Amino acid sequence: MTEKSNELICTACGREALLLRKPVYEGFKKTGESLTCSCCGHVYADEESVPFRLKRAQTIFSEADRPRPVQVFNEGENQTLCRYCVHYVVNPFMQWCSFHKKEVAATDSCPKFEQKEVSEETAEE
Ligand SMILES: [Zn+2]
Repeated sequence: MTEKSNELICTACGREALLLRKPVYEGFKKTGESLTCSCCGHVYADEESVPFRLKRAQTIFSEADRPRPVQVFNEGENQTLCRYCVHYVVNPFMQWCSFHKKEVAATDSCPKFEQKEVSEETAEE
């Protein structure tokens, strides 16, 4: 069992914030959770799109001394896909770049690409 942190670094306001989880009901049936940023109220479509702050790594930085994104992958190119980017937000209706405020495709690539932290978030819920 991996314990999930509620801390995130919000893609919308860029601050360290807490994830607010609220059950969503349709009638009496729980249909999911609403995931919002405690700072700005940005709504995340699902767990996958929440930029959780990693507990182990030293991911705590302020806006000021935020390091340049490190390119950790080999060839680079094919990894700069929107679907791997922190700015990539998926909801039931579209795929969205929270940086450019526009619709994107998972296979788009982008000069503003920023590697999404991959943590335990792939563990099934
Ligand atoms: Zn926020």
